[in-house]
Amino acid sequence: MDTNKEKELMFSLEGKTCLVTGASRGIGKAIALALGAAGADVAITYARSQEAAKEVESALTAMGRKAMAFQADAVNGKRAEEVITEITKAWGKLDILVNNAGITKDTLIMRMSEEQWDDVIETNLKSVFNYSKAAVRPMMKQRAGSIVNIGSVVGVSGNAGQTNYSASKAGMIGFTKSLAKELASRNVRVNLIAPGYITTDMTDKLNEATLEAINKSIPMGKAGQPEDIAHAVQFLACDASTYVTGAVLHVDGGMAM
Ligand code: NAP
Repeated sequence: MDTNKEKELMFSLEGKTCLVTGASRGIGKAIALALGAAGADVAITYARSQEAAKEVESALTAMGRKAMAFQADAVNGKRAEEVITEITKAWGKLDILVNNAGITKDTLIMRMSEEQWDDVIETNLKSVFNYSKAAVRPMMKQRAGSIVNIGSVVGVSGNAGQTNYSASKAGMIGFTKSLAKELASRNVRVNLIAPGYITTDMTDKLNEATLEAINKSIPMGKAGQPEDIAHAVQFLACDASTYVTGAVLHVDGGMAM
């Protein structure tokens, strides 16, 4: 076989179907577009940004892919079931799930309300349970699938002012490894990407002093772009990574070292 052709096929997502949660903006949007560019049909969810989500859907359709955008609060487990049922009904299967939806509500613990704690844990961690649980049934039936969770460097290193967020992201690591063990024998892989500091609306909220401190802590000396995460997701979604499961892949310019 032509080795270039073989490599191309390995990284291709031609004929695959996927769902990316929270893909109206930022990292999720870049992931959806990268998976579409690699050949997959792509469904996305969003919470509030309907217009932006429709633009992502149109961009995917313009690439020649099938696309669907669902308004679905990731915290709602019943809605997660509905979304995945609609995808499998329309497209016959679900090959790839990317749990990306996430929020921050940063403050020191002395000032953190119970609501700020609950909102972040539910949006970032319970959502991963909701969508993984709903996706596991079709994936086990197919005896194939790839779940990619978007964690964070602070789930490993911790960060002052982010007890809620760091706890949610550390929880995702335990969840990823446990589910990877549950599903390995069914050929369903579960991995986590831990992004460092990536330029999006989420990081635009940070003040100058925090940004300067973050930049100093990145060995590569610069922020990452949403596409840097999207390329890593493509790797974990495609056949080039068929022997990778339960992994935590740091995509952070060296921040976690
Ligand atoms: P972002 O620009 O704020 O975008 C967040 C996305 O999640 C939006 O599409 C948003 O939808 C969606 N979302 C928020 N709450 C939701 C909910 N309850 N239900 C469904 N969708 C919801 O954030 P980002 O920077 O791209 O972050 C994406 C992921 O990467 C998050 O899990 C974040 O923790 C992680 N991460 C980011 C960084 C970074 O430096 N940016 C670093 C490490 C990890 P709407 O547009 O409808 O609100």
